[in-house]
Amino acid sequence: MRLMSTPSQPNPLLEPVPQLDLAAQYSAIGAEIRTAVERVMASQQFVLGREGTALEEEIARLCGAAHGVGLASGTDALILALRACGIQAGDEVLVPPFTFVATGSAVSALGAKPVFADIRPDTYNMDFSQLERRVTPRTRAIVVVHLYGLAADMDPILAFAKSRKLPVIEDNAQAIGASYKGRRTGSLGDAACVSFYPTKNLGAYGDAGMVVTNSAEMAARIRTLRNHGQSEKYLSTEPGWNSRLDEIQAAILRVKLRHLANWQRARQSHAAEYNRLFSQIPGVMPPPAPEGFEHVYHQYTIRIEQRDALQKFLGERKIGSTVYYPFPLHLQPLYSALGHKAGDFPHSERAAQEVLSLPMYPELRNEQLARVAGTVAEFLKC
Ligand SMILES: *Cc1c(COP(=O)(O)O)cnc(C)c1O
Repeated sequence: MRLMSTPSQPNPLLEPVPQLDLAAQYSAIGAEIRTAVERVMASQQFVLGREGTALEEEIARLCGAAHGVGLASGTDALILALRACGIQAGDEVLVPPFTFVATGSAVSALGAKPVFADIRPDTYNMDFSQLERRVTPRTRAIVVVHLYGLAADMDPILAFAKSRKLPVIEDNAQAIGASYKGRRTGSLGDAACVSFYPTKNLGAYGDAGMVVTNSAEMAARIRTLRNHGQSEKYLSTEPGWNSRLDEIQAAILRVKLRHLANWQRARQSHAAEYNRLFSQIPGVMPPPAPEGFEHVYHQYTIRIEQRDALQKFLGERKIGSTVYYPFPLHLQPLYSALGHKAGDFPHSERAAQEVLSLPMYPELRNEQLARVAGTVAEFLKC
């Protein structure tokens, strides 16, 4: 898309900067993708075949976990991991309120109750000291989210979970490839969910997800659950789901996985450039970068008081931005029956009003980053 009266040299100062540009990625890797899809077409094997098995091994290795079980979505990965931990109707599960709704609705899907524990204001991730306040005798698990591509501070959370004998499930939908004190996200809890939703750092061409875990028992259980509760063919031992990652998506993801490390480096270098530009613009808080955490910048999310006005200003200048997420879970109509009100989780509520995710994808060019930061500066009249 170009603005009107494009001369032979398009003016980079007027070109739109989308928040995400998947077409740029496809134009770079389309030929490889089409070859991989052809291979699946030629095999005529579409569900639970070689590609899926290979992808499970490759993603488990990437996450530093022993097993991977391919599923239909990241949401299903959360539901089945919770189910495999024994979560059932009436149980309580601790979750942060500042996340995508799937983190909570996966708990609700099993008839269990999400119990919210507020985030840290500096990292947007779970605050272990809030867990103590929210745990009850009915608590049966903790779901920790690594929001925007930054790991939660896991050691105190894991220590708390251990003292209470609670399983920890990582919602690693946004942080594949990230690490925490030298360990990859996805290997830190009892199980982790991965989402391959198209906009994630490793995105399929449709829905797909995975559970990774170090527990052979948990992996076997999820393999049964994803396939109608069948522990062997046509012998069902419990109620299950149909939640399998298909061969076409697996083949596409395997192609993209070969590029993930490069894409991750590109995201990190763009984030460093944004950080440098924003360090000269007072009033903008860049994303946190705690020592010992490797951020993979699924989103580059700034914080600014005049967020809504800035978003409008950027939009008028054809710069994409998104609010992830404008409503914390405890204030969603979905959870009105839980009886929460504004003020219950102040850090989540304030984040929901002040965060803004700016354009971030590997193919961004430096002049685009400069245009985004320059437009933010113009808004603030720096
Ligand atoms: C994307 C996402 C999910 C859900 O994944 P799907 O593959 O879309 O079902 C869950 N949690 C978080 C934090 C996400 O970003």
